[in-house]
Amino acid sequence: MKTALCSFCLKSGILCSKCQSKIKSGEVSETDLKIARILLSLEAANPTLQDVHFHKAVEADDILALIVGRGDMPTFFGQGRKVIKVLEEKVGKKIRILEECGDDRKFLEDLFAPLSIVTINTIWLPDGTTETRVILRKRGRNPPPIKVKAIKEIAKKVRDITLRVEFD
Ligand SMILES: [Zn+2]
Repeated sequence: MKTALCSFCLKSGILCSKCQSKIKSGEVSETDLKIARILLSLEAANPTLQDVHFHKAVEADDILALIVGRGDMPTFFGQGRKVIKVLEEKVGKKIRILEECGDDRKFLEDLFAPLSIVTINTIWLPDGTTETRVILRKRGRNPPPIKVKAIKEIAKKVRDITLRVEFD
């Protein structure tokens, strides 16, 4: 797995001065470090993790979103979401996997999965700012299995998108 921290430091748990300064400056958070160490420990059992780029983790409420490289998603979802399940168990939060590149539509689809998006459009507000309206397909009468507020926070933090979420 490729991250901003060296794998030697991740393995040993003792950080070199370079890695220490990345934590100190905030370039890499304590959560990033924790996740990177877990991912590294899973490499032996999940060899494709060796090629994964882990950029950072973004938290909101009970959701922890991992920003990974383009094309890295299958590694997390393979074998019945094995890697995600281990992460969720160790971190105690719901894990979302988001690819760093890609357009906003893909980003939103991954963010809301497994719910499906009916429409996405842009709303222009009188003050010149925009909101992105996402209409989701409602499944029966049950309340949606997601925390909309946390999802909105993730979208803002990762892509600076202000979301308005509705159900059809
Ligand atoms: Zn280091």
